[in-house]
Amino acid sequence: MTRVLVTGGAGFIGSHLCRSLLENGNEVICLDNFFTGRRQNVSDLFTNPNFELIRHDITEPILLEVDEIYHLACPASPVHYQFNPVKTIKTSVMGTINMLGLAKRVKAKVLLASTSEVYGDPLEHPQKESYWGNVNPIGERSCYDEGKRVAETLVMDYHRQHRLDVKIVRIFNTYGPRMLLDDGRVVSNFIVQALRGEPLTIYGDGSQTRSFCFVDDLVRGFELMMKGTDFTGPVNLGNPVEMTMLELADLIREIIGSKSTIEHRPLPSDDPTRRRPDISLAGERLGWSPEVDIRDGLSKTIEEFKTRV
Ligand code: NAD
Ligand code: UDP
Repeated sequence: MTRVLVTGGAGFIGSHLCRSLLENGNEVICLDNFFTGRRQNVSDLFTNPNFELIRHDITEPILLEVDEIYHLACPASPVHYQFNPVKTIKTSVMGTINMLGLAKRVKAKVLLASTSEVYGDPLEHPQKESYWGNVNPIGERSCYDEGKRVAETLVMDYHRQHRLDVKIVRIFNTYGPRMLLDDGRVVSNFIVQALRGEPLTIYGDGSQTRSFCFVDDLVRGFELMMKGTDFTGPVNLGNPVEMTMLELADLIREIIGSKSTIEHRPLPSDDPTRRRPDISLAGERLGWSPEVDIRDGLSKTIEEFKTRV
C-alpha cells in the first residue's frame, strides 16, 4: 500500500484529495495547522484505519516515512494569505524546503500545488506553461505569488541537485463543496450572498475574467500527474471556460433563483485582468481535461453550501 502525505489536507482541495486517495487504496497522512483548514473537512475519514490526521505547521521540520507527498499547505484566498503575509511566504519557502528535505531523506515523490498566480497579471492569453509571467515583486499579492514562484524554483533545484522525483501543478481557480463560507474567494462569496439574499459584491466593474474548475476534475489531474513518470511539469490544471465576474454573478443568481442585487466595491490592487489556462500540455502528457460543466459544478457546490448557510 502506498503511504501518501497530504500537506494542507484539511483544507478545501486537500480534503477532497485525501478522500479520493483513500478510495483509490492508499494510506493517507493528512498534515495541517488548521489556519484555513478544518477538522470537520475530514472528520468523516476518522474511522478509516488508513487515515491519520496530524496537527503540524510545515514551517517546522517533521520526520515521517512516506512514499508520496502532495504539498498543498498554504493559504490560497487573498483575504487569508494577506492576513499575515510574512507567515505566508515562510510557509511557501521554509515549508517547501522542509517537505523537500523530507522527500530527499525518504526518497518520496513530491507534487507541488502551485498556482496560476505565478503568471501574475498575464500579458499572454491564454497562459501556457512556457510563459514566465508578469508578477509585481513588491505588491500585496507578492507574498503568495512570489512565494509560489520560489517554491517552484526549490522543487526544480532539488530535482536537478538531488535527483528528486518532482511534479509541479499550476492550479487555476478551483471551486466546489467545503470551501469556507468566509473564504473571501469569488465563488464562495457570491453563493453565500445569493443564498442570503444579500447584494453580490463585484470588485471593480466586473469585466475581469477567470476560468473556474470543479474540484473533482482537479483532484483527478493531481493523481494522474503523480502517477506519471519523467514528467516534472509544470503543468496547468484548470478549466479553460473563461467568464467575467458579472457573468459568474448572473449564473449563480440564476441557478439559485436569487433576487440579490449587485454592489460594486473597489478593485483590489494587482487584481489580474484576465486568466485562462492553455491545457494542451495536460491533454498531451496526462490525457487530462475537465469533465464537469460550470453549471453542474456550481449546482453541486450550492447544494452543499445550503446545508451550512
Ligand atoms: P485552503 O486554504 O482551503 O487550504 C490550505 C490548507 O493549508 C489549509 O488547510 C491550511 O490550514 C493549511 N496550511 C496553511 N499554512 C500551513 C502551514 N504553515 N502548515 C500546515 N498547514 C498549513 O486552500 P485550497 O484552495 O485548498 O488550496 C490548496 C493549495 O492549492 C494551496 O497551496 C493553494 O495555493 C493552491 N491553489 C488553490 C487554488 C484554488 O483555486 N483553490 C488555486 C491555485 C492554487
Ligand atoms: N471578486 C469579486 N467579488 C468578491 C470576491 C472576488 O468581484 O466578492 C473578484 C476578484 O477581484 C477577482 C476575481 O473575483 O477579480 C477572483 O477573485 P478570487 O479571490 O476568487 O481569486 P483570484 O483573484 O486569486 O483569482
